[in-house]
Amino acid sequence: MKQKHWPVPNSQNDQLPLPGQAGSFWEDRGDRRHAGVDIYAPAGSEVVATEDGVVLDVSIFTSPERLPYWNTTYCVLLQNAEGMVFRYAEMGDVTVKKGDRVAAGQVLGHVGTVLDLNKIDHRSPAYIQRLKHSGSPSMLHFEMYRTPPSTQEKYLGGNFFSPDKPDDLLDPLPYLQSMRDQT
Ligand SMILES: [Zn+2]
Repeated sequence: MKQKHWPVPNSQNDQLPLPGQAGSFWEDRGDRRHAGVDIYAPAGSEVVATEDGVVLDVSIFTSPERLPYWNTTYCVLLQNAEGMVFRYAEMGDVTVKKGDRVAAGQVLGHVGTVLDLNKIDHRSPAYIQRLKHSGSPSMLHFEMYRTPPSTQEKYLGGNFFSPDKPDDLLDPLPYLQSMRDQT
């Protein structure tokens, strides 16, 4: 089997958030659930494709026009040969475009910073206020889907506003853990 690549070669820690921890998959954030896994890394760190694929889409992920405490970040949807789709999100810039074929390990862009700390206040969601106080707001937000994500109407900024997990959404933790074991 072909070697897979850890998506943020420069990530600060080897500890993926485990179930229940901040930044873990399907973390309960009160009115919303976390759709992926957060990999903390300094802003500007390279983000690479975990495996070969085709870029399905590049789009704006967060922006101050949507929420005042958001900076503008981008996301890349990448589909592998088996049809699975990976969302690389909270990126400060993207170096690929829709339709590109990318190889495992190829740079897709760089880690961005979603939260504008100066604009977070008591009206912001509690988990956002906790992130502000933890002082580590930059990360790659990584999601996995069985097929291209379809039901996104309850989705915003890496969270689903529903207690029901979409059928096509996968827990990226085993995938990422198996990759760490390889390297
Ligand atoms: Zn996240």
